[in-house]
Amino acid sequence: MTTGVRIPFGDLARQAAALDPELTDALLRVARGGWYVLGAEVAAFEAEFARFCGAEAAVGVASGAEALYLALAALDVGPGDEVITVANACVYQAAAILQAGARPVFVDIDPASHNLDPALIEAAISPRTKVIMPVHLYGRAADMAAIWAIARRYGLQVVEDAAQAHGARYDGPDGAPVGGGASALTCWSFYPSKNLGALGDGGALTTGSAELATRLRRLRMYGWGEKYIASEPGGRNSRLDELQAAALRVKLRHLANWNQARRERAAWYRELLAGLPLELPADTPGHVYHLFVVQCDQRDDLRRHLLAAGIGCDVHYPLPAHLQPAYAALGYQRGHLPHSERAAARLLSFPLFPELTRAEVEEVARAVRSFFA
Ligand SMILES: *Cc1c(COP(=O)(O)O)cnc(C)c1O
Repeated sequence: MTTGVRIPFGDLARQAAALDPELTDALLRVARGGWYVLGAEVAAFEAEFARFCGAEAAVGVASGAEALYLALAALDVGPGDEVITVANACVYQAAAILQAGARPVFVDIDPASHNLDPALIEAAISPRTKVIMPVHLYGRAADMAAIWAIARRYGLQVVEDAAQAHGARYDGPDGAPVGGGASALTCWSFYPSKNLGALGDGGALTTGSAELATRLRRLRMYGWGEKYIASEPGGRNSRLDELQAAALRVKLRHLANWNQARRERAAWYRELLAGLPLELPADTPGHVYHLFVVQCDQRDDLRRHLLAAGIGCDVHYPLPAHLQPAYAALGYQRGHLPHSERAAARLLSFPLFPELTRAEVEEVARAVRSFFA
């Protein structure tokens, strides 16, 4: 029995409608301008995004996956090296690490935050460890103060995966923006559904190092230091195009408001779902709710119930990276990362986007309550 989708999990057309004519003006400006790849729009977006993050520089690339790979390449991570990361954020990190020729070493999460548990990092460090790669999952910053302290003590680099955390703030009294901290590099995706999304694929890295930014600008385009002259072997084509940069410049101006709207909708859910046998995400100040993820023992039944009621929902993510068939050769088994594994069986993401109305949130909450009634 299906009633069709009444409340979508996401609806980017609502955002596009609200941005018309700003967005169409920007796109036509590029179309008429005659310069389509790595031009004035990309340079302007890089400067604006760097300022937004409090970083020295931003470098636009083709996607979030490319940003993760290029970060490792720019830090000379390769065969024989190990990168410590999480297994609960799909396979994005493990894929980039393998592509760089290195080995992912998975560490379990803090079940309260879904982020890398800093208390487990030291036991995973070996003489081969080169990088720690935390993810700010669902829009909540990882415990970076603790991670930076460990990295300093062991002489390791930090690469942050901030693909779900545009505009998020680190914990702590200063609450500095994610991407402008003490890490070597922070990686961003502008996949359309992210908090800051392009009209197609896009990505970026932010850094406090002008040297790393220069190196990334070579690596994203055939290793060229100047036109047709390679100063790095083995670069690739990982460019951001002008249409995407122009769209991102329009959207960046709205990001802070959108994140505020996401926080407001998360607060509505918290109010309307109180008292149910559901674990709701903790309300932390810098959280930008890329996703609103609850946990529940009857996850699969609740999911079926909501889908049958026409309410979009999804699981982020159903199978941790260390148990994915393609990564079996790494030698992990069920039981190695108990918190990641338990969460994967209990997670459910509810609709949450800035244009979602109060009436829609109420309807989702009613449907959830009827499941437990
Ligand atoms: C979306 C995402 C990526 C990959 O970004 P793409 O632009 O789709 O390549 C990487 N890491 C995380 C945490 C993501 O959510």
